Amino acid sequence: MASLASVQQWDQAYDVVIAGFGLAGMCAAIEAHDLDPDLSILILEKAPEAETGGNSRVAGQSLLISRNARALADYQRRMSEFSPIPEDMLQAWAEAMTQLEPWIQERAKQAGAQFIQGTGFSERDAVLEFPEFGAREAVHCTATILPIPSGVYLAFRENIRQRPRIEIAYETPIRDLVQDPDTLEVFGVIVESEGKRKAIRANRGVVLAVGGFEANPQMQRDYFGLADVAPLGTPHNTGDGIKILQKAGADLWHLRNKGQSGGIWPGFRPDGFVNGFLRTFFWQSFSWIEIDANCERFYNETAELQLTHFKEKKHGQYIETPHYRAGPVHMIFDAITCQHNKLVTEVMSWNPVVRGYRWSDDNSAEIAKGWIVQADSIEALAPKIGRDPAALKATVERYNAACRQQRDDDFGRNPQTLMPVAQGPFYAIRIDPVIVCTGGGARRNIRSEVLDHEGRPIPRLYEAGELGSMFSDLYQNGSYLTEAMISGRAAGRQLAALAPHAAEGVK
Ligand SMILES: Cc1cc2nc3c(=O)[nH]c(=O)nc-3n(C[C@H](O)[C@H](O)[C@H](O)COP(=O)(O)OP(=O)(O)OC[C@H]3O[C@@H](n4cnc5c(N)ncnc54)[C@H](O)[C@@H]3O)c2cc1C
Repeated sequence: MASLASVQQWDQAYDVVIAGFGLAGMCAAIEAHDLDPDLSILILEKAPEAETGGNSRVAGQSLLISRNARALADYQRRMSEFSPIPEDMLQAWAEAMTQLEPWIQERAKQAGAQFIQGTGFSERDAVLEFPEFGAREAVHCTATILPIPSGVYLAFRENIRQRPRIEIAYETPIRDLVQDPDTLEVFGVIVESEGKRKAIRANRGVVLAVGGFEANPQMQRDYFGLADVAPLGTPHNTGDGIKILQKAGADLWHLRNKGQSGGIWPGFRPDGFVNGFLRTFFWQSFSWIEIDANCERFYNETAELQLTHFKEKKHGQYIETPHYRAGPVHMIFDAITCQHNKLVTEVMSWNPVVRGYRWSDDNSAEIAKGWIVQADSIEALAPKIGRDPAALKATVERYNAACRQQRDDDFGRNPQTLMPVAQGPFYAIRIDPVIVCTGGGARRNIRSEVLDHEGRPIPRLYEAGELGSMFSDLYQNGSYLTEAMISGRAAGRQLAALAPHAAEGVK
């Protein structure tokens, strides 16, 4: 925290200062603006303009639409059994969710974009993650805004463009809050701009919407115990919000949800990349397996784990798939899988959507780069990936025998996916665990007020979106983006209603 006394003079002043130009920050700005068009609003964004948008820009853009608040609250309560969400927050959130759809449609219309039911890139009308907890009753459908990719983000960005009183400062990260050290009341922010620290006054208050810590390897180790995971989303979400909130006297929550709620997925991070590629989940053929550090298969590779954000049911509970603790993991596949499956999906994630990397349809470019290793036999493949030839051969032969019997006694793989790894040449690629997003941050309430260690709101400080998400454990598809909308709007609504600081309290 920077104390009010330490600010010699304010470099700029606005009514509302929002940090983070992702969906949560945009929704806070739109709501505050639409309730009071005279407000001066500044959005601070750490990334350069070409790299803004955060995870919101590279998400799958699925939006959870519910028309039954009670069923939605029941469903979420059961998903959060291990770390209950405060009941008043849960119920108010569920009510808000059932009222959100017309507002999203309005935003799409204002941007001249099309709102559709479905994911936009699969046949599914709705992804029902945990049916036994009541998904069918809770989820009316999945919806999105076209185009794919980035449609929701693009529509909201256009909404911001149409509100010229909302200013955006790119390459201007928030570094600190200016607070009264006794009351913790927030008066403004300290930012870094062109190598200089500047103090910006916020007459009404500040919203922190700077995303999570997925791209901060040290925080991944410290808070989640994950080594060497790669983000699928923006490399700019490095946990700045959590550090600022710690200094601000906020209480923290939800740093260690199952798989960070969004899950730990199989992906590929070639050398030199900060971000991972997301492995495809639309397979044309299944002549592939994965092996762990012991050179053995270790889970049911073709279970449709994308439908549970890569949590599998073990011992009666949903837990993370073991990739992050089984490594090094390699995917071993044959010529048929190589020719008929682009190994990555490009409808979401940073590398294809923002960096513009185009993976070749038959993976030939990535073989040429050496990201995928090729050999004429399994024994010849093994040493190229640091494996024992006899052990790898035995694992492939055991799997191929299961294919012949059409029965996988080891992991119960669906017989329709039991296709032998038999057609040379053979291939291997290292699987790296990749992260959707983190939910940890400050404890907050449904008004998006940040709470201190005694559960009291820190005056004039709000938090929205993934930073401090209310999701505490398991997660239903489409909930993060809609939470960014609900929590962002709540913060904007509060700020529009707040009286400005008393003049004498501010320099
Ligand atoms: C591959 C992928 C797929 C996903 N699919 C879905 C989906 O289909 N449906 C769904 O609901 N959710 C999905 N999610 C999750 C969802 O994208 C996020 O939870 C949501 O976008 C978070 O929005 P946000 O505004 O809180 O954060 P973000 O969109 O990440 O925005 C945070 C912004 O803050 C900026 N920032 C960081 N530090 C600072 C700083 N110090 N100062 C100023 N700015 C800063 C960042 O540059 C960024 O622009 C997906 C995520 C990923 C990565």
